[in-house]
Amino acid sequence: MGKIIAVANQKGGVGKTTTCVNLAASLAATKRKVLLIDLDPQGNATMGSGVDKYGVEHTAYELLVEEKSFDEIVVKNTIGKYDLIAGNGDVTAAEIKLMEFYAREIRLRNALAPIKDQYDYIFIDCPPSLNMLTVNAMSAADSVLVPMQCEYYALEGLTALIDTISKLATMVNPGLTIEGILRTMYDPRNRLSNDVSDQLKQHFGDKVYRTVIPRNIRLAEAPSFGAPAMYYDKTSAGAKAYLALAGEIIRRAEQTSIKQA
Ligand code: ADP
Ligand code: MG
Repeated sequence: MGKIIAVANQKGGVGKTTTCVNLAASLAATKRKVLLIDLDPQGNATMGSGVDKYGVEHTAYELLVEEKSFDEIVVKNTIGKYDLIAGNGDVTAAEIKLMEFYAREIRLRNALAPIKDQYDYIFIDCPPSLNMLTVNAMSAADSVLVPMQCEYYALEGLTALIDTISKLATMVNPGLTIEGILRTMYDPRNRLSNDVSDQLKQHFGDKVYRTVIPRNIRLAEAPSFGAPAMYYDKTSAGAKAYLALAGEIIRRAEQTSIKQA
């Protein structure tokens, strides 16, 4: 059964998009069927998936506002071997248009309901704010994956985010859980990073992924090449880290299903 994961953090530049693109490609490389939805008007996940955000014919706008059929909008089998619902400036218009609708919080959830089970994983790349697009992502999602940098104030921001997630869950999506907290752009030589990382593990325990994403220039370069890092430099530490994360996510899911059986 398909699992919908919103990748969210109201802070910009923490690695949401990088995580979406590289995790989607890594899971696809392990033969999972993956869909990535670019819900950020900046369209970075679209460009990073090798799809030109200026040239693309269909975007999430049509899914959210026009209720066009999914098959019409989806870009099949991108260079990362996952499917994509593209995003660009039009998605800003969707945010405004959404306000006109009754039940505007659950437009994405309704749009995904008929196709959810075609995929093993659906990732939603959220914009760096808690607007109606993010609310739609969190209403549609089974869980939220939170990428974060281990720096001063990170814990404070995280507590606020988790507070918002639980409030939102109560209002529109009672089943919403935290999928996991991912340490990104990690530099083990930095003492502050290590301190924050320790605190994170104390507070959030098993929710913190064991896999750590290092600061790695290949991850930053890959988008200009229009591909996930594993198709740009598969030997890079960044590409390997996201493959390890995919493995961790698959193992966690298997353990949960054994417990439930
Ligand atoms: P967000 O989507 O949260 O705004 P991005 O994924 O776009 O964050 O990352 C912000 C910037 O940092 C981008 O230029 C990206 O290429 C770079 N970046 C992200 N993760 C890493 C990493 N692990 N190592 C080096 N650069 C990274
Ligand atoms: Mg982004």
